[in-house]
Amino acid sequence: MNPVLPGSVIGVLGSGQLGRMFAIAARRMGYRVHTFSPDSDTPTGQVADVEIAAAYEDLDAVRRFASQVHVVTFEFENVPSATAAAAAALAPVRPAGEVLHITQHRLREKQFLSRHGFPVARFRHIRNGAELPAALAELGCPAILKTAGFGYDGKGQVKIETAGEALAAWQRVQPAEAVLEECVDFACELSVVAARGQDGAFAHYGAVENRHARHILDVTTAPAEAPPAVAAEAVALARGVLDALQVVGVLCVEFFWTRSGKLLINELAPRPHNSGHFTFDACVTSQFEQQLRAVCGLPLGSTEQLRPAAMANLLGDLWRNGEPDWVAATAMPNVKLHLYGKLEPRPGRKMGHLTALAASASAAREAALAARAALAREPVAART
Ligand code: AMP
Repeated sequence: MNPVLPGSVIGVLGSGQLGRMFAIAARRMGYRVHTFSPDSDTPTGQVADVEIAAAYEDLDAVRRFASQVHVVTFEFENVPSATAAAAAALAPVRPAGEVLHITQHRLREKQFLSRHGFPVARFRHIRNGAELPAALAELGCPAILKTAGFGYDGKGQVKIETAGEALAAWQRVQPAEAVLEECVDFACELSVVAARGQDGAFAHYGAVENRHARHILDVTTAPAEAPPAVAAEAVALARGVLDALQVVGVLCVEFFWTRSGKLLINELAPRPHNSGHFTFDACVTSQFEQQLRAVCGLPLGSTEQLRPAAMANLLGDLWRNGEPDWVAATAMPNVKLHLYGKLEPRPGRKMGHLTALAASASAAREAALAARAALAREPVAART
């Protein structure tokens, strides 16, 4: 198949920060970018050539959008299957709608992974509240109840500590259907961001370590401090997943590394991922440029990491004492500031991130945390 060359138009479904960083990478290489989402003045739209504000269900608008671009990709996987199908009738959609269909639904994703022999935490499909007690008895407490569809950053999930809490948990999640998962006793959470080309070529950014706060990614350290054999196994599993899904594009595999030394796959994201943001500043080819290369049918770029790095998210909470102290953070010469152009800093909302580069991954983490504390005008200890 002929590659989509610079000068062509890339269509992005979704308009958040992932699309923004993708658009920056694409424009740098001479492509034009159209973004489609229900919103306007979006993080992606602010740097795209064209911003279309229409509902994902408005298939006429989706067709108009797709007819004006050379290839369609995503920065947000929770778009309806019908949207991807409508676009696919007019332009290549990469990764394919089937990849989205599987990865936007926890149950389909877990079933796909276990059917293909990938390690996942033990889980049960729960169709109604009455099925919960028996499943809880099988998996044991504590367990985690998650909505089957459209969940991210811990949304739509609740931990069940004792069997007596089952009914209340079901009522809190109120799902059409759900997944009950054993609670994993993990030493740490790891992820691998990887890319697969149209020709099956594979590239990855190694295993990185993720720390969450309130179920939202807080800090990524790259490379992970896990033993090399664990990192290699995580990469091998990620490669298996990209091949099994026949992904053309970027996909992130998130893992639990258990205290008993096992890797379990927690989640897949069929796009660049928050845990890969460090690649923008620390790698020869960022995850966003890699997505561009993969979906355009160009050769993948080098994923070499030039320096150890860490990424700290900047959530809306940081604005609680007023405007963060940007000068203090930019005074640290090895720290890079990324802001997504979002006007309203709501608590829990991802507003930007910091990337720190240093001689070691742990030094980079210290630097990123120190910069974030300076932004918040807080002493470092309060944030670490
Ligand atoms: P998720 O939205 O499924 O990625 O979950 C968000 C975060 O909740 C994960 O990154 C973990 O920190 C935690 N979590 C989710 N599922 C489990 C589990 N089965 N056992 C322990 N922690 C979990």
